Amino acid sequence: MIAEKLHEVESEIERSRQNRVRANKNAPVDLVAVTKNHDVNAMREAIDAGVTIVGENRIQEAMKKHELLDRKVSWHLIGHLQTNKVNQAVQLFDLIHSVDSDHLMTALDRAAKKIHKVQDILLQVNLAREDSKFGIYREDLPLLMQKVDAMDHLHLCGLMCIAPNYEQVEDCRPLFREMYEIFQRVQEMPLLTSNIKYLSMGMTHDYTIAIEEGANMVRVGTAIFGARQY
Ligand SMILES: *Cc1c(COP(=O)(O)O)cnc(C)c1O
Repeated sequence: MIAEKLHEVESEIERSRQNRVRANKNAPVDLVAVTKNHDVNAMREAIDAGVTIVGENRIQEAMKKHELLDRKVSWHLIGHLQTNKVNQAVQLFDLIHSVDSDHLMTALDRAAKKIHKVQDILLQVNLAREDSKFGIYREDLPLLMQKVDAMDHLHLCGLMCIAPNYEQVEDCRPLFREMYEIFQRVQEMPLLTSNIKYLSMGMTHDYTIAIEEGANMVRVGTAIFGARQY
């Protein structure tokens, strides 16, 4: 069941990639299978069917699963991170999508240093300036990028955004397009250690549009695992 749904998502990803207008059709798309609120059995099934990256949004839940899961996979943190959890976060996650403040960057840099790690991160942008969402405003990007670029134990790899929950999903398209433009612009910034290669945007209801507009990393849960039980 999970395998079938995963393969459907994979073919949708391919189809959307071919439909790209502005972005490069050949640029591959990484799928982050969002496993929050799903158990390790579901994770095993997905990994055995080809998933190589899992996305979690809570540290405690991810740690518990990490202990139980007898499979090799890349772990991504996609949910908001509090500074009091940075030590656990740097131990577990290969990529943290949700870095959204100066304060958090400093705490993560210090935590990564303690374990002699260079932590890969994305900066989360609150493009639609929603009060209900985390993320930095676009005008703060250049300054924060320069700061993170100068940190020895953080490696900036790109940007992440979450589109608003519009009634008409097509309404996300202009925002994704704008985000792709920002992504292209920041790639041209003179940075020393950063390598801006990922644009993480798109979830179950909007990932096809996000890819058409240039996303190269999508975070999909429901379309693979079904609805979450809370
Ligand atoms: C839960 C979540 C997703 C996945 O959502 P689905 O609608 O189940 O695909 C993606 N990104 C973030 C940040 C999330 O919290």
